[in-house]
Amino acid sequence: MDKAIDVLQRTFGYSEFRAPQADVIDAVVAGSDVLVVMPTGGGKSLCYQIPSMLRPGVGLVVSPLIALMQDQVDALAQVGIKAAYLNSTQSASEQARVWSGIEAGTLSMLYIAPERLLQPDTLSRLSHNRIALIAIDEAHCVSQWGHDFRRDYLGLAPLADVFPGVPRIALTATATPRTRKDIVTNLKLRAVREWVAGFDRPNLTYRVHIKTDPRRQVSQFVARYRGQPGIIYALSRKKVESTAQWLVDSGVNALPYHAGLDTAVRAEHQKRFLREDDVVMCATIAFGMGIDKPDVRFVAHLDLPKSVEAYYQETGRAGRDGAPSEVLMVYGLQDVVRLRQMVDESDADEMHKRSERNKLDALLGWCETTECRRRGLLAYFGETMDGACGNCDVCLSPPPVYDGTVEAQKLLSAVYRTGQRFGAAHVIDVLLGRETDKVAQHGHNGLAVFGAGRDTDARQWRSVLRQLVGRGFVTADAARYGALVLSDTCRPLLRGETALTLRKDVRPAPGRRAAASFAGETLSDVDRALFEQLRETRAALARENGVPAYVIFHDTTLRQMALHKPASMDDLMAIGGVGATKRDRYGDAFLQVIVEAN
Ligand code: ADP
Ligand code: ZN
Repeated sequence: MDKAIDVLQRTFGYSEFRAPQADVIDAVVAGSDVLVVMPTGGGKSLCYQIPSMLRPGVGLVVSPLIALMQDQVDALAQVGIKAAYLNSTQSASEQARVWSGIEAGTLSMLYIAPERLLQPDTLSRLSHNRIALIAIDEAHCVSQWGHDFRRDYLGLAPLADVFPGVPRIALTATATPRTRKDIVTNLKLRAVREWVAGFDRPNLTYRVHIKTDPRRQVSQFVARYRGQPGIIYALSRKKVESTAQWLVDSGVNALPYHAGLDTAVRAEHQKRFLREDDVVMCATIAFGMGIDKPDVRFVAHLDLPKSVEAYYQETGRAGRDGAPSEVLMVYGLQDVVRLRQMVDESDADEMHKRSERNKLDALLGWCETTECRRRGLLAYFGETMDGACGNCDVCLSPPPVYDGTVEAQKLLSAVYRTGQRFGAAHVIDVLLGRETDKVAQHGHNGLAVFGAGRDTDARQWRSVLRQLVGRGFVTADAARYGALVLSDTCRPLLRGETALTLRKDVRPAPGRRAAASFAGETLSDVDRALFEQLRETRAALARENGVPAYVIFHDTTLRQMALHKPASMDDLMAIGGVGATKRDRYGDAFLQVIVEAN
């Protein structure tokens, strides 16, 4: 274990392991198969990178994400580790060079896509060489129940026989017990040890706001992170395009990303997101898997995600470097109704639909919660948290709640009396006693509920309805254009047997930054100016070396430099993220900036 710590400190420049890295590395070095479930940003890579250095032979890293291999190899080169990749984008002579590195034993790690690894000649050639370990990244791709099933992954099971005695390490951020079981079974992991790390992402500030004016809401949010990278998710390609365009018009370096774009354009945009320092990616959920850009400062959802799992994964792309980051979702009644309709209208079988509905319900329940969001999220994944986090919208500004029983009863009875055939707009017109054409046409002005809700305004009624739909008391019937229908669960409410507590929607105060501090430290104005200078130096070095800025140093490393102002090469080594190779390569450039600023 001393050796592992030594590599961590000298090569990667970190002072200590995070749980459960040390144990995992121990087990792999000793030759066991392992399964590692860690949240995005938890530090999975070191779990196979360090054993690859400590065991004789080359470590194979199986990953479906060919587009990212170059960056991964570049990042390792920066810390002085010799790695390479094999894929179809390379020329014959490039591939020959990689093979000679493997055969000469000079290569520590090889990144390879599953389909390439499984070609018979690749397997046979590799089997004549010493293999340190086989890491299987994004291992949930082997599960048919997951959201990213890839047939190629099933082919990885026989590796145990092709490479006897070589430990395999499966890694994923998806942790449902079913997926975990599938991974062990389908990959035929032997004598496997499992580690499931906690799901808490303490540096993320979770916010869910009611959609009032989405453009204004998002532009205020983005403005607080001006010049920093982020992701904005939307459901449709059209909305992705228009959002990107409108951000560009307001001076933001924004790019669109969705499955309708040309492959080359998509690859280019992804590359710019990774390399440039300030790109805001407007994307459908087609974007993001395997993106390990550590300094994404915010993620915003303009539309509801499909489930809590999806939300956790999408927001998980923020703040992988551990620095404070913020995630925002805006949603409204329209979204709730539309998402339910999408589930109803999909051509999946009934069992599948039911499970999708349950997932959506759980998400809506979480959106409407009046308790700490982090605690709710963790509870969903089976973790308990004491107290409240103090760093989500509910904790930072608790929503006022009120007894909404009577309002709910009025609304439910308006839905019932109008025959469960109308959408939100008409039902609310009836409650407000509005003499519209439709009201006249159906004679709804003669109902007892007509005008029964005049003491409340339309906005408030939409809020009540959204919460009733969110909690499953009312559903929107897709086959009848979103007609509202009562569920069985609303009976006790209608009969006055249960009470209902509702949230009062408040317009969030604009522009207050999250209270989260950075590892307990915040930068003064002076340090902030230095931090910006260090970022400029980093950008220049990145351009010179043709690598993304974060590959030189992370934001977290620059912040520590700005704070502690190291004056010598030795001081520099005490900064997290500075290892011997990077110190030798870039130490001078950064020390100079710090000295001049003093
Ligand atoms: P993931 O689990 O998502 O693959 P990574 O392996 O990319 O996460 O690690 C996320 C970030 O955390 C990286 O920037 C990495 O350098 C950093 N990191 C990993 N382990 C440690 C550690 N022991 N100390 C400090 N930083 C670490
Ligand atoms: Zn909280």
